[in-house]
Amino acid sequence: MNKIIQKSLQIASFNNIVYYTNKCNKQLMTFDDSIGVDPIGVLSVLNKYNVSSIFFLTGEYIMLNQAVVKQAVSDGHKIYNHSMNHDNFNELSYREIVISIKSTQKLIEKIAKSNDRIIRPPYGILNLKVIFACLLNKFKIMMWSSRGYEFAGLNKHQLLQNYLSQTTKCNNQIILMHPNMAESYEILEQLIIHKINEGIEFAHPEEIYGK
Ligand SMILES: [Zn+2]
Repeated sequence: MNKIIQKSLQIASFNNIVYYTNKCNKQLMTFDDSIGVDPIGVLSVLNKYNVSSIFFLTGEYIMLNQAVVKQAVSDGHKIYNHSMNHDNFNELSYREIVISIKSTQKLIEKIAKSNDRIIRPPYGILNLKVIFACLLNKFKIMMWSSRGYEFAGLNKHQLLQNYLSQTTKCNNQIILMHPNMAESYEILEQLIIHKINEGIEFAHPEEIYGK
């Protein structure tokens, strides 16, 4: 890679791509793809323990689930960009990536009433094309540091253990959960209770990148 590009990328990415909550020494809950099979269950657990979270949603989901998206926003959560159709950015051109993220962002502005420009690329695909498409369009990127592997066929007890074993090691984790099971809200509640008992504080989404 050209050295100037490499250097610019290092500088740009230093402030604009995060895997951890960095300075704030807390843990952040983030959810991908949906507000849950049982969104009311997920939102009520978060409200019960006062945990503000981020939902990375596709434009398609936002269009089809406007009421629950608005509910999440009014409960104090953030809705951020996860492409239009859970696109595989490896298969799209630079221009197609930009169209996907900008059209999703328009829906976020319209329905979730947010001007924050924060994205998590689907499948965590982060190559140079994706990084440039995001950063040059003034998006910041939020990855994650620990996750539960919901698609590995684990039951809810195994999944909870999986989260706990990954996230106790260090205090500044960004936790990724896919709330894709009917019992996801139960796992979430147990996870939050464990963390509160361990003295861990949850970060507010705005503590990572600001408003
Ligand atoms: Zn996803």
